[in-house]
Amino acid sequence: MQIEFDIRPAPFPIRQFLKWTGFEAITMPWQTVYALQLPLSDELIRHEAIHILQIREMGAVRFTLTYLWYQIRYGYWDNPLEVDARTRSATFFSQI
Ligand SMILES: [Zn+2]
Repeated sequence: MQIEFDIRPAPFPIRQFLKWTGFEAITMPWQTVYALQLPLSDELIRHEAIHILQIREMGAVRFTLTYLWYQIRYGYWDNPLEVDARTRSATFFSQI
């Protein structure tokens, strides 16, 4: 299965957000990944691809609200959507 999406250099203010948070990239609800530096590692591309899938599965509004709520409730590492992204990016792509 192929998942197509855009990866672009992060514009201001997303660039500033990434620097403050220490993240290398962020997937936005409009299904674009913004990166602090290109190219991204294959591992990170696979991780962000799962966020793209989550957005397609849940819809942009529900994904965004759920993600933000989980972020407050569980923090980044234990955010169930992050756990899902780590789990599925490790298994899903090994089947290709
Ligand atoms: Zn993630």
